[in-house]
Amino acid sequence: MAVDRDMIPFNRPYMTGKELFCIVEAKLGNMLAGDGPFTKRCHRWLEEQSGCQKALLTHSCTAALEMAGLLLNIQPGDEVILPSYTFVSTANAFVLRGGVPVFVDIRPDTLNLDERLLEAAITPQTRAIVPVHYAGVACEMDTILAIARRHGLLVVEDAAQGVMARYKGRVLGSIGDLGAFSFHETKNVISGEGGALLVNAPDLAMRAEIVWEKGTDRSRFFRGEVDKYTWQEVGSSFLPGELIAAFLWAQLEEAQAITDQRLASWDHYHAALAPLEAKGVLRRPVIPEGCQHNAHMYYVLLAPAIDRQAVLSVLKQNGINAVFHYVPLHASPGGRRYGRVSGTLDVTNRQSERLIRLPLWVGLTEVQQERVVEVLTRAVT
Ligand SMILES: *Cc1c(COP(=O)(O)O)cnc(C)c1O
Repeated sequence: MAVDRDMIPFNRPYMTGKELFCIVEAKLGNMLAGDGPFTKRCHRWLEEQSGCQKALLTHSCTAALEMAGLLLNIQPGDEVILPSYTFVSTANAFVLRGGVPVFVDIRPDTLNLDERLLEAAITPQTRAIVPVHYAGVACEMDTILAIARRHGLLVVEDAAQGVMARYKGRVLGSIGDLGAFSFHETKNVISGEGGALLVNAPDLAMRAEIVWEKGTDRSRFFRGEVDKYTWQEVGSSFLPGELIAAFLWAQLEEAQAITDQRLASWDHYHAALAPLEAKGVLRRPVIPEGCQHNAHMYYVLLAPAIDRQAVLSVLKQNGINAVFHYVPLHASPGGRRYGRVSGTLDVTNRQSERLIRLPLWVGLTEVQQERVVEVLTRAVT
């Protein structure tokens, strides 16, 4: 039997082919600093696609979350509720302002923040809830927003993985008061490093622009609304240069095609892995009614009796780069030092040790996917 020894990487950044043309156009226009024509095009696209009040490109999703920490005026001791099963930036953005991350458990089905545990985590110090849309599958936003409104809390969506995904028809990132996107090369739509803050609360829109432009009203000056620009409040330089925005523009134009191709690969894995789920050796992702995901990730949760490291090794020996995911924040040195736990984190502890992510990128062939499924089947049965 002929064996294809070509490595199947976990991720391969996709280029639409138009990136370099857009970068040349930005260069020829002699507009290289931020907030130029490509940045404005990206802002308009994000605003139209999501329906948010204002979109602002940032140099990462981390930066967008840090802007959220500033906009929420997080003070030392303020508490922010978030899942422990997430990327470190979800917590760090608030810790930078002296905030305390309060970790709650995740739902067994979607691995998203369990909305049923929120009320028990709220104290007089609580300021905000930060739902993370894991794998581009929406959190239960109606319930989360209702709880937040009832307790006077703000909601910041970590939609790093959620570009082009929806919840009951609404675009992820446009549902809470603020939303953060990532365009890191491991995400669906990319610019190397990159991100965006979506501002949905109208009263935060003007301040967001000021925080973004080093704490000045420079954007208003450029629009001719004031005759000089000055220091207004605490801010920083959160905007990317035009070359990054030009690259991103080439990707945004193809965002739907990218999503459709990823969804086709996701569906192919999902169908091919159904027999293994029926055998009880693993379980596949669950997409709740009303959630339109974006195929950011295809993961499986191995049955408790199966040794995850052994499965990853077999895949690797066969040229397939599959990977596990987050070490829960509450169990990390930083999480112990800066955060606290609400309730038990049994689901987080259990599921994070069983999860593996399979290769998924635009250009992955069905032949390659069948090889992944075939080797995975051998490894778990
Ligand atoms: C990728 C990711 C981030 C960070 O994104 P950057 O653009 O790399 O800063 C934050 N949160 C989640 C859930 C992510 O997946």
